[in-house]
Amino acid sequence: MEINSECSKEAIEFVQELNHTKREPLKYFVRSYGCQQNFADSERIAGLLELMGCAEAANVTESDIIIFNTCGVRHTANERVFGNIGALKLLKRKNKALIIGVCGCMVEQQGVADGILKRFSFVNMVFGTNLIHMLPEFIFRVITKKEKILQTKLNDEIFEGLPVKRSVGPICQIPIMYGCDNFCSYCVVPYVRGRERSREPEHIIAEVKEAIAQNKKEILLLGQNVNSYGKGLAEDINFAKLLQMVAELKGDFRIRFLTSHPKDMSDELLEVIAKNKKICRHIHLPLQSGSNEVLKNMNRNYTREKYLELIDKIKAKLPGCSLSSDIIVGFPGETRQDFEQTLELIKQVEFAFLFMFLFSKRPGTAAEKLPDIVPNSLKKAWFAELVKLQEEIGAKKHREQIGKEKLVLPDHFKAENGKIVLVGKCDQNFLVEFEGTESMVNEFTRVKITKAHRRSLWGQII
Ligand code: SF4
Repeated sequence: MEINSECSKEAIEFVQELNHTKREPLKYFVRSYGCQQNFADSERIAGLLELMGCAEAANVTESDIIIFNTCGVRHTANERVFGNIGALKLLKRKNKALIIGVCGCMVEQQGVADGILKRFSFVNMVFGTNLIHMLPEFIFRVITKKEKILQTKLNDEIFEGLPVKRSVGPICQIPIMYGCDNFCSYCVVPYVRGRERSREPEHIIAEVKEAIAQNKKEILLLGQNVNSYGKGLAEDINFAKLLQMVAELKGDFRIRFLTSHPKDMSDELLEVIAKNKKICRHIHLPLQSGSNEVLKNMNRNYTREKYLELIDKIKAKLPGCSLSSDIIVGFPGETRQDFEQTLELIKQVEFAFLFMFLFSKRPGTAAEKLPDIVPNSLKKAWFAELVKLQEEIGAKKHREQIGKEKLVLPDHFKAENGKIVLVGKCDQNFLVEFEGTESMVNEFTRVKITKAHRRSLWGQII
């Protein structure tokens, strides 16, 4: 494989040689936190480690190299990571040669990288989101020079050609762009992943083709705001065009994409989805709040009216398309009236799935400085109210699927009462279970829905 020139050949060969001379190769363990983008990055980290001749370990205790790929989006995620890093101290005491690395969004936050090395002196490497390609060099320096690595650097470059170790199963995540330019006032992404930059379409198409050849059945195109894909590229391309190119590829696969920003979703994109059966009928469209005042303070650049207009268009152009969204509860300054507008909008749209979050202040963001913090007790009460509402709507949306036919892609099975039960998602992203055989894992199966539970459907093979 041709590796990006910044990816040190010398370092790769050194670790390869080391692994050849040992009775057993160095074993690695990568733990991912947070969003799909992080999981996609972890597949590249694992790809590089395999290229160096290392082998995947079943757990942290039998590893020689441990990498935590962290998430900085929520405060609770930070706390969890710190707890998990702390727990590695005992392992390091038993195995002095153990190499521990921490990377990902969290370490790009101001003061965090330094703080990790100070608080956990046994950590060997702390490196930023754009420096994954340098992992071989970092490991080389830790082994040969006993160096402590502390390197975070946001830049606008994209490093193509890194090897990828895909996760087991039929789903393949392919980043189409990195970073974000939107600066929503609560979000750290533009600060920890840098400004928005798109991959050249030919690199994306090559990766999709490779995934299809590896028998991947679901291609998940990833970006913080896929709807603005293509900005800054020389070629005349946008997300709708890219999606069309992917949909035209030959093979038995389907396509999903994450995440759409309501302000950038175009009619052209809806047309492309409507005319291509390979593109799943499910759109995740983060709303965040149903109040114009709160949306303005969040710097979301759309109003509830515009959002509802877009939903109407989706419903008209893509009948049967399921919808999901994200909501933040307790944004600074949010009043009961604002919250009620969110509830009202949710009742109107009827999302099949809703991801609900309590507002958490992130360092360095504009919302960190906003006054009028909603008391925690109130936030939690509103949150419970929202969860209750969505449980009812979600259950209704699940019931509505009874009698419908679905194309399900089972990604695993379980044994239940002596029977094999396949589990997977349908086109509209509902979780579907049905009785079948082990050989049906990773194979599209047509199923008729006979029962609905609160969060899943039960069906029979047609
Ligand atoms: S669109 Fe807003 S919420 Fe999404 S990653 Fe960009 S800044 Fe964050």
